[in-house]
Amino acid sequence: MKVDNRVTGKTKIAGVIGNPIEHSVSPQLHNTISKYLGVDLIYVPFRVEAGDIEDAVKGLKALNVIGFNVTIPYKKEVIKYLDENSKQALLMGAVNTVKNINGRLYGYNTDAEGFSRSFKEETGIGFAEKRVFIIGAGGAARAIAVKVAFEGAKEIFIANRTTSKANEIADIINYNISRIVETCSIKDRMTEDIFQNCDIIINTTSVGMYPETEISPLDGTGLAFSRGHIVYDVIYNPAKTKFLKDAEKAGCKTVNGMGMLFYQGINAYEIWTGIKLSSEITRKVFESIKDILPC
Ligand code: NAP
Repeated sequence: MKVDNRVTGKTKIAGVIGNPIEHSVSPQLHNTISKYLGVDLIYVPFRVEAGDIEDAVKGLKALNVIGFNVTIPYKKEVIKYLDENSKQALLMGAVNTVKNINGRLYGYNTDAEGFSRSFKEETGIGFAEKRVFIIGAGGAARAIAVKVAFEGAKEIFIANRTTSKANEIADIINYNISRIVETCSIKDRMTEDIFQNCDIIINTTSVGMYPETEISPLDGTGLAFSRGHIVYDVIYNPAKTKFLKDAEKAGCKTVNGMGMLFYQGINAYEIWTGIKLSSEITRKVFESIKDILPC
């Protein structure tokens, strides 16, 4: 039998903490990148029980991993156990990537970076001077709204079933970044004008996600897409939600959440290793793992 040299005494370690963790495709994604680049790094999943997150973070630090991802349900809680967090991650209220720099743990949010990168790659446009309409006000909405504000959006409108959560995100951005956010009700007739005047429409709710694929957050609201809208859905399962199908019928450019999922991982890898992945490597990695991505 030949010696298995994939892991040696010199191999660097990264991983992901969360619960559940069995469904995660991050190990395959990161290990495929390392294989392509010839980097001596292994990425492993760690299921952490509620109440054990502080011990898990201390343990990873003591074991000198190069970094780790944080997934549901610990993206918010982990912040208080890290040595420092990026300003954007703090405003987003969530960390999904941690880097170990000389024994100190630094928190970042690459979900929002993944969103931004996939949006620009697939549409060819950025957010500067754009009017953006965001449906939903959960964790994904907050990260996206903060990112879009940092990238120079002209106006952001947030419509959510629970108004108080939309107001909370608006306050965070208006007081810390720029006074560009307003909230509105998706069912208000006044919202129709706002919606029509926006350049970019983003669904950040879980409405339309598998298995309830026949519904859209716009059902029953009277809001309808126009040809000029660029429409993004953070959902990646199914690949084409009813929201995106309706947008396509209206002639809009549409993008699903698969690129966001993929690029959050690419960006995390770049943060840990300091290697900027070329578009050729990125494309090769995507081709290799696309069949195991969840849609
Ligand atoms: P979250 O914090 O729980 O927020 C859920 C949002 O959906 C809230 O705004 C909630 O409104 C709204 N919502 C849920 N059910 C609704 C309904 N029946 N009618 C109207 N609104 C409803 O979840 P999250 O972490 O933001 O995730 C949201 C979606 O983003 C999920 O589908 C998730 O898979 C996806 N996501 C994708 C990526 C990616 O990489 N592509 C990354 C993160 C998340 P209320 O506030 O009124 O409850």
